[in-house]
Amino acid sequence: MKTNILATAAGLSDHDLLARLDMLARREREACVDLVAHLAALDSRPSVYAAQGYGSLFSYCTHALRLSEDAACNRIEAARACRRFPVIVDLLASGQVTLTAVRLLGRHLTPENHQAVLGKASGRSRPQIEVLVAELAPRPDVPTSVRKLPTWTATRSSPATPAAVASGLPAEATHAAALSPAPFVATTRPIIRPTAPERYRVQFTMGEETHNKFRRLQGLLRREIPDGDAGAIFDRAVTLLLETVERRKLGSAAKPRSRAPIRPETDRSGRKPGARSRDAPQEVKRVVWRRDGGQCAYVAPSGRRCSERTFLEFHHVHPHARQGPATVGNISLRCWRPDRGSRRTSSDSSP
Ligand SMILES: [Zn+2]
Repeated sequence: MKTNILATAAGLSDHDLLARLDMLARREREACVDLVAHLAALDSRPSVYAAQGYGSLFSYCTHALRLSEDAACNRIEAARACRRFPVIVDLLASGQVTLTAVRLLGRHLTPENHQAVLGKASGRSRPQIEVLVAELAPRPDVPTSVRKLPTWTATRSSPATPAAVASGLPAEATHAAALSPAPFVATTRPIIRPTAPERYRVQFTMGEETHNKFRRLQGLLRREIPDGDAGAIFDRAVTLLLETVERRKLGSAAKPRSRAPIRPETDRSGRKPGARSRDAPQEVKRVVWRRDGGQCAYVAPSGRRCSERTFLEFHHVHPHARQGPATVGNISLRCWRPDRGSRRTSSDSSP
């Protein structure tokens, strides 16, 4: 019974669990590369899978090998890329590039560029690979479009009258969404994709109220943004919101206001000297935020710095409860997530 594996894994020590996961991931990678190499061989012998009753390698993979459609696509694309550039086999085996990276980059690789591109792709995440693809094959900006989508009929959680701001639905998708009599199925996550160096396509759905506000803004900004471009309005809105949020959370301002003089009996926060607050002064927060680059500054024993950029707290390295001061030297950004509150202490504060 395979369910025993759950109990075995649950019984491992932390150290053994991590060691075993490392080994299993390596083993999975090796098995995957082996599979890709054999698919590359089968790809060059279409008569073999045809004789088995499969019209395509994809059909063979999904039916005979029981791979999911996604898994089959990734492996077939990788197999074809490996046939053209055998060096990819080693990169996949070492984990330097992933199957997804190879699938995304595959068609843009040439004998001239493949070494440089694969070098750049090493260790990159999917969004970073997408940026790389946009550099290799820049696409023109998509036309801006804001349109009402068909009324929701099936989904329980759907709003009654959704409208879409789609700064760049592909023409055929927009067309299909607007004309199809079938109930509209929303993607739950917004789409932000690089299309060319420093250009991104954004697509999301918004409610009636937001749509109305957007239309009012378009009208009010007619003089400044004559064509009512959604991207330009989005840029202004985001810039304003960012300023407001940064001012509220970090006390930063584009134009620092002149400070009120400090009365002798108080510090800048208006607190009496000697009275200790666990909340770091805004100025300290601002400096810490810049120094740590808005990213968790925890460094693991392995030397790896935590990459988290959300749920950040201003953390007292030497705890506040043990007289740790709220100074730049003693405050550091740390991530804290509601689902794993392990590193939070009572002396931490949110930005
Ligand atoms: Zn962290």
